[in-house]
Amino acid sequence: MDIQKRIEELTSLLNKYNYEYYVLNESSVSDQEYDRLMNELQLLEKEHPEFLSPNSPSQRVGGEVLSQFDKIIHKNQMLSLANAFNEEDLRNFDRRIKDIINVQDVEYMAEMKIDGLAMSITYDNGSFLYAATRGDGNVGEDVSHNIKTIRSIPLMVNEKKEFEIRGEVYMPKATLTKLNEERKANNEELLANARNAAAGSIRQLDSKIAAKRKLEAYWYYFVNALDYGFEKHSDSLNYLTKLGFKTNPERRICKNIDEVIEYIKEYTQKRSSLAYDIDGIVIKVNDLKYYKALGQTAKTPRWAIAYKFPPEEVITKLEDIIFTVGRTGKITPNAVLSPVRVQGSLISRATLHNEDFVKSKDIRIGDYVSIRKAGDVIPEVVESIVARRTGNEKPFEMASHCPFCNSLLHKKDAMHYCLNKNCEARHIEGLIHYCSKDALDIEGLGEKLIEQFFNQGFIRSIEDIYALSNHAQEIMLLDGFGEKSVLKLLNAIENSKSRSLERLLFGLGIKEVGVKTAKILASYYTSIDLLMKASLDDLISIHDIGEISANSIYSYFQDEANIKLINNLKELGLNMEYKGKAKANYENFFTNKTIVLTGTLMKMGRKEATAELELLGAKVTSSVSKSTDYVIYGTEAGSKLEKAKALGIKTLSEEEFIKEFNNARKG
Ligand code: NAD
Repeated sequence: MDIQKRIEELTSLLNKYNYEYYVLNESSVSDQEYDRLMNELQLLEKEHPEFLSPNSPSQRVGGEVLSQFDKIIHKNQMLSLANAFNEEDLRNFDRRIKDIINVQDVEYMAEMKIDGLAMSITYDNGSFLYAATRGDGNVGEDVSHNIKTIRSIPLMVNEKKEFEIRGEVYMPKATLTKLNEERKANNEELLANARNAAAGSIRQLDSKIAAKRKLEAYWYYFVNALDYGFEKHSDSLNYLTKLGFKTNPERRICKNIDEVIEYIKEYTQKRSSLAYDIDGIVIKVNDLKYYKALGQTAKTPRWAIAYKFPPEEVITKLEDIIFTVGRTGKITPNAVLSPVRVQGSLISRATLHNEDFVKSKDIRIGDYVSIRKAGDVIPEVVESIVARRTGNEKPFEMASHCPFCNSLLHKKDAMHYCLNKNCEARHIEGLIHYCSKDALDIEGLGEKLIEQFFNQGFIRSIEDIYALSNHAQEIMLLDGFGEKSVLKLLNAIENSKSRSLERLLFGLGIKEVGVKTAKILASYYTSIDLLMKASLDDLISIHDIGEISANSIYSYFQDEANIKLINNLKELGLNMEYKGKAKANYENFFTNKTIVLTGTLMKMGRKEATAELELLGAKVTSSVSKSTDYVIYGTEAGSKLEKAKALGIKTLSEEEFIKEFNNARKG
């Protein structure tokens, strides 16, 4: 093959993938595939330096700076890291270093390589100055507004001299899982992985998004360590910890490269039990005095390397593509796979998202495909292995009609929908949703049983669930059922009648009403009757309910069929009231106020005070800033109270707070 042509081809592919990854925060190929192409390019450029361009992706730090952010010029370049994929690469790295600095054994620091977004923060005069993304390594984006929402990052430190720290902002696995569950319940697109989720949250103009996403950060580099007189990287990290920064406790000093290799083996095992995703281990020379002599390339320092874990993707055959219908009528193509183990679980289905996803990847029936678990949640097809095609594969065709009711599908954006309200598949999904944990939580009435009861005609509507006792005799005859289990099921159904209003609101499957919105509505209106009477303007005026949601809620309660359903449920004895404490729907002292609590509150614990204040319409935050309205202080209040005074923010003693609280509660 023509070498120059291949270099051009690789350059254009890698530039495209960089753009998707760094600018759009999404990827159309796996990191492994990206690394493979990058390696190929680097090898070709090494063998043919005459074709090496200074603009090659191998010579540039990946990111681009988005125009909507203020720019920050990095005082010290923010580089990427060279990669090692096996023991040999690591030993070569060690050998090169020994050659340059001429020592017997090099002491290293081995650290988690968390899969997130690189961040730099500068402090001066004891205060947070700004936070910047890596960008192209020379110029980054000012994302201070978002970084300040991460609660573990101190805004004030006990160090007056200017300094810069580097670290990784990330989304913990559990947060991603929870977020995706919420998104699923709200019918929103799932976030593909923790890295994209973190990067997507930070590169937003609106800091509310980052605040909601509960991001975390670990700090792994003190840029000014030498100026501060530190000899070892490890000591400088200990100093960062002392200043109040979170540093990763899994880090370890390794006396030589053998210990590094042991550490990697250990964490290859431990990896899945960590609370965050790591894609490798970073190895750094621990002695700072060698950094200058070791130097850097255009893209990476020579005193560090990133060991990348082998792919957690597996290859299997895609036997078929089938379509499923969600409760809103959304049609999803799903891959039927030859069963295969991925991260410990047996996978035989994987989502293909939508028509565009399958077509852009040219996934065909009969292909061998690589599979991974997206953000540890749902399995997804990464790509087809084109080299294994035999020619018998069938190209994908999107369904034109609903696979269940045969209605013509409608396309909206990238999605196809079955709009037939009587479509059985939609009904079944709606019933499954109604009985699910966050909704009416009917124990024992799960997916399979609902489908079975639906097909047998026992449950065709929500009302039918409460008339299931009419079929008790027939159910008793079914496989796996006896008198006891039928009674247990009927009991669970009966118990669900008394659930608090927000569960019913969520269970009804109103578009745009997820768990959180249901809770807001229930606590605000306290009964379904009041909610049903709410005008569109009323709904829009509720803090945290957007116009689209308000419209959808309003039209749901205008629909005759829905009104009938609610009346029927009332007659069946379902509770229609909110059982939690009601949210104040009147203006009071605390409405829309941003409040910080500090010190020990004697009469009302901090947690209780937070909950009460939120019910009164306040926002309780943990750090004092110019946007804080009041700082409420108890005994032993410390720096937050001082800061409030320095910034001229109003303060309330516990006594004053209780007085205002009692007034506000009386309305
Ligand atoms: P990198 O991710 O290989 O390594 C550098 C980064 O590691 C740093 O910028 C920092 O953010 C991070 N890091 C985490 N823990 C660290 C620690 N303890 N110390 C120092 N750094 C730490 O390099 P990169 O330039 O950020 O990204 C390149 C990689 O991104 C590729 O190798 C590939 O895996 C992936 N990528 C994928 C696509 C795609 O389309 N799938 C596109 C572009 C890049």
